[in-house]
Amino acid sequence: MHPESYLAQCGSRWDSRTGAVSMPVYQTATFKHPGLGQSTGYDYSRSGNPTRAVLEETMAWLDGGCRGLAFASGMAALDCLARLFVPGDRIVVTEDLYGGTYRLFERLYRPLGIEAVYVDTADTRAVAAALAQGAKALLVESPTNPLLKIADLRTLGCLAREHGALFAVDNTFMTPLLQRPLHLGADVVVYSATKYVNGHDDVVAGLLVAREPEVAERLAFFQNAAGAVLGPQDSWLVLRGLKTLAVRLARQQANAQAVAAFLAAHPAVARVHYPGLPDHPGHDRQRGQAAGFGAMVSFMLNDPAKAPDILAGVELFLFAESLGGVESLITLPAVQTHADIEPGTRARLGVTDGLLRLSIGLEDPADLVADLARVL
Ligand code: PLP
Repeated sequence: MHPESYLAQCGSRWDSRTGAVSMPVYQTATFKHPGLGQSTGYDYSRSGNPTRAVLEETMAWLDGGCRGLAFASGMAALDCLARLFVPGDRIVVTEDLYGGTYRLFERLYRPLGIEAVYVDTADTRAVAAALAQGAKALLVESPTNPLLKIADLRTLGCLAREHGALFAVDNTFMTPLLQRPLHLGADVVVYSATKYVNGHDDVVAGLLVAREPEVAERLAFFQNAAGAVLGPQDSWLVLRGLKTLAVRLARQQANAQAVAAFLAAHPAVARVHYPGLPDHPGHDRQRGQAAGFGAMVSFMLNDPAKAPDILAGVELFLFAESLGGVESLITLPAVQTHADIEPGTRARLGVTDGLLRLSIGLEDPADLVADLARVL
């Protein structure tokens, strides 16, 4: 079955008693036991809830994994992943990744003796060198946030396997409809479901999908033991969002391509980062491993001093953090999403005061371009 067909009906056949076409919200903390030592399969909603279970099964199917797990946020999902490691472990991580992930590793896990080393994961040789020094895991974002660099996931998967390292991919920007990391050699896929998976800027949620039962069982144990699960109402909202993921992504990508082309030709813009532009350094690599280029665009201004006026002047774009929703958003990563990364590192990476990031939504592309043309 095609993913679009599967998604349109996710949860629609679950309730055989009433035939409810929309998956019911099982708003219950606990479940009555049929008898001593007996269970309906559900005992307590931290350990399992039917609405959450349908979301988890849907994501496992989409990604081709053995199990999905839904969390209260993308950070809770990443935190669950990080619990696989013990003091003394070393993890190789993408250098220009979401600032919150950097903060998790630096402020929560480094003090516990787990060391993250940051590498340009678009540079396969740099990753090979970092893995050769010994690593328990490789965690990659591709495209990266906010510079939209593309890693060669297939080759990195081979390298991770050679070095006995777990390979995890944060696939938030792509979703399983555009990129399926487990098929490219990853062991675990991570999502901030707050973004495209839900897609309506009304839920904070996270997901993990594991390829093999052994890793899945460990993650499921941590999910239940630490307890940062997604509630039934939010699970239902994410399921509803998933039903329209394919049509949303198609329109958002077409809009992003139009906006990126406009920015690339604008004299006030020094550089556009969008993998869908033929001169993007990762364009061909992305074509070879993904079914699309996504709808995130970042661009560098010739004059960084103009950034505050642009943020104040946009009328259609909303000046807000986050991404992946139906509304187009604009942010200044250096002071918002990436504020926790050291200023020196930000400057070296190019996450500077003149770099603006756009999350392109479902509006008419002519209106989006007109809004940017006016402020630029
Ligand atoms: N991963 C990526 C790529 C993100 O962009 C984000 C948030 O922006 C996260 C993880 C964290 O997700 P959440 O905000 O849902 O906790």
